[in-house]
Amino acid sequence: MLTYEYIEAARRRRWASALLYLTDRCPVGCGHCSVDARPDGPRISDWPLFEQIVSVLCEVESFEIVGISGGEPFTERRGLTFATEELAAAGKSVVLYTSGFWGDPAPWGRRVLGRTSCVVLGTDAFHAARLAEDRVVAAIRAIGDAGCRLVLQAIGTDREAAGLLTRALGASWPDHAEIHVTGLLPVGRARGLRPVTPPRAGRSFGPCTVADAPVVRYDGRVSACCNETVITGGGPAPLRRHARDAAELRAALGSFEADPLLRFIGSHGPGPLAPLAGLQDREFEHICQLCWRLTGRLGADRGGPVAALSLFTGEGP
Ligand code: SF4
Ligand code: SF4
Repeated sequence: MLTYEYIEAARRRRWASALLYLTDRCPVGCGHCSVDARPDGPRISDWPLFEQIVSVLCEVESFEIVGISGGEPFTERRGLTFATEELAAAGKSVVLYTSGFWGDPAPWGRRVLGRTSCVVLGTDAFHAARLAEDRVVAAIRAIGDAGCRLVLQAIGTDREAAGLLTRALGASWPDHAEIHVTGLLPVGRARGLRPVTPPRAGRSFGPCTVADAPVVRYDGRVSACCNETVITGGGPAPLRRHARDAAELRAALGSFEADPLLRFIGSHGPGPLAPLAGLQDREFEHICQLCWRLTGRLGADRGGPVAALSLFTGEGP
């Protein structure tokens, strides 16, 4: 069964999973959207490129799980239908990240759910302010009808989430669903909504839990990790590529997969690398701040101290 724990473990195994970022469009308009998705956000416009993107995700054997997110994947009927058909036929487990805004889905939506192993449904006060509870309850029931595992992602507390699951699925909801409590990501429209985290010394940062799973966007932008700013075009250039066809996508994925700096950040974290850039005592609020500084200073270094340290710790390509 594709539990949240299993999905997270796969994300931490290098190149065992990938994320297909299907669209920048979402009609919900939550105040905390970390990718700043909008009702008129850009969507798939180059269908031949999109077909090649899906085909490469299918052909990478190590990808056991492919997540599909956005934006709201269900705004892309053609893209979501095509991607889930191809990925399921290739033997990949599909994990869908959605708000459930679609409620009681149309037949095509039910067919998409039928090809999906797990749905991660975001639900919290920000979503609740934009979506009627009846709609979310209908979505949860449809997910249950399709036989998908359901992970209800809640921010801060699981109290409301448990009430929602009981209303939708009855007291036996733990047989089909689970709740994952998470925190607010202070990026996108959530920037400034969360109190600033106390800064920590560079040397204290451990492994990055998402450095081992690449993200491929519908428009060919590929990023080494799922940092929202990098996915949406910000952050240091070494963490991003732009693929115009299948060959360039294969090359981009291959270069990220072999990158000694990214491998090290995924397995040991940026902390042990901080002294190489004189950042061991410098304070950072977030692991990505240190990672970006290191990527900028050491990212072009493929034969120097990072490679040597990687070989020493068994993380070389
Ligand atoms: S958080 Fe999710 S549901 Fe809300 S606007 Fe962003 S993509 Fe849409
Ligand atoms: S620490 Fe680096 S690799 Fe990890 S999410 Fe942040 S930017 Fe990406």
